Amino acid sequence: MAGVRTRFAPSPTGILHMGSARTALFNWAFARRHGGQHALRIEDTDRARSTEASERALLEGLDWLGIDFDQGPLRQSDGRERHDSAVAHLLETGRAYRCVCTRDELEERRERTLATGQSWVYDGRCRDRDLGPDCGPHTVRLRLDPSAYLGWDDLVFGPSGQAASEIGDMNIRRSDGHPLYNLAVVVDDLHMQISHVIRGADHLANTCFQIALYRALDGEPPRFAHVPLILGEGGKKLSKRRDPVSVLQYRDDGYLPEALLNWLARIGWSHGDQEIFSREEICTLFDLDSVSRSPAQSDPGKLEWLSQHYLKQMPRDALIGLLLPFLTREAGRPVEATPELADFVDLLRERSTTLGEMAHRARFLLVDRVEYADKAAKKFLRPVALPILRSLHDHLAGLNAWEPASLEAAFETVRTEHGGVGMGKLAQPVRVAVTGSSASPGIYETLAALGQEQSVARIAAASEWIEARQG
Ligand code: GLU
Repeated sequence: MAGVRTRFAPSPTGILHMGSARTALFNWAFARRHGGQHALRIEDTDRARSTEASERALLEGLDWLGIDFDQGPLRQSDGRERHDSAVAHLLETGRAYRCVCTRDELEERRERTLATGQSWVYDGRCRDRDLGPDCGPHTVRLRLDPSAYLGWDDLVFGPSGQAASEIGDMNIRRSDGHPLYNLAVVVDDLHMQISHVIRGADHLANTCFQIALYRALDGEPPRFAHVPLILGEGGKKLSKRRDPVSVLQYRDDGYLPEALLNWLARIGWSHGDQEIFSREEICTLFDLDSVSRSPAQSDPGKLEWLSQHYLKQMPRDALIGLLLPFLTREAGRPVEATPELADFVDLLRERSTTLGEMAHRARFLLVDRVEYADKAAKKFLRPVALPILRSLHDHLAGLNAWEPASLEAAFETVRTEHGGVGMGKLAQPVRVAVTGSSASPGIYETLAALGQEQSVARIAAASEWIEARQG
């Protein structure tokens, strides 16, 4: 497809929500797929709600996901002159007019109309008054042809549109002189020669009015593709409170960007029954005709599954590099890679979903003393375990080689000495003693990673702990 130009146009008024990130992803993937260009335009014209922190978070989130841009970040506020001159042109040509109806007057007329059971659109009171620039405080409205049909062939929803009479002459400039969203977006999309506008289905209603604006500005509308909203579990609307929706939160929890990108791509888009998509595959396979029209359900279980997949696949050194900041956070001090840690990482990734979880499971390696999880201590650090822990302690203290095979031999000896006691009866108390919890990778590997001195000291400490509670 020749000349594809897409844009992601977020308003910097909050977090980078997973719904917006998916819109960014679809725009980017579509442009890449068709050898086109992708732009980032920050829609910061709502001064009261836009914040720098939100803009930074947007950029950080997109960068982390690897969604890049050929143009931008541009700021919508930089186009103010362009927006103003478009409004001036529409006024001069009579395609727009000044309106002095106040908010209160409009509200009163709206209520009266609604009370008769009719729906309200602007009633055109100022439409033919020919008000000049010195008419006092005024907004500017676009003059719609009431007989026009404002339609387009949506690339996801198919033929869409509405009669102009159902929309009415909407404002394009506020009474303080600020251009409104619909005007600024259309002027900018024309200026940037955007060929495809891909955005959330919550903008379907705006698109009708925007079509009228393109016509009034003698511009060719782009192709539109509206992507259905994302629903949370149980088909409910995503809520910031209930659902984890912030891209940076996923990053901070330790999901890999590959996993999140793959997960977002599959919310509402499919390619046969394929589930795993690399970044490159998304860029070669994505297309709008396989975006579904029905609201897309997000499935957190699938994200976990993808996350495990990418964790398992990652080359070990790269994984350790990514894990170190999480280990540092867990330990509260800088942590460096060691050979013991490297061996242990392969075991951790087998049973973890995120880098955060891996680091948490590795916590016992990073601290001087572990705290016992209540339930685990109650169940396993009991007087019955004391003799066997003591004797294991003595065997381990005397070991010359500290590696899984010799540890296994020591465990076998202790079990035999204690009448062939089951492995669980020994391994679980030891696991709680050295890690604080009853779940960890294999006990020999766990001890090998922790080292002899710490392991022996922790088994001694656990024995004392049991003893102190016995007496
Ligand atoms: N700033 C708008 C939003 O964040 C973008 C709308 C559009 O893509 O045209 O919803």
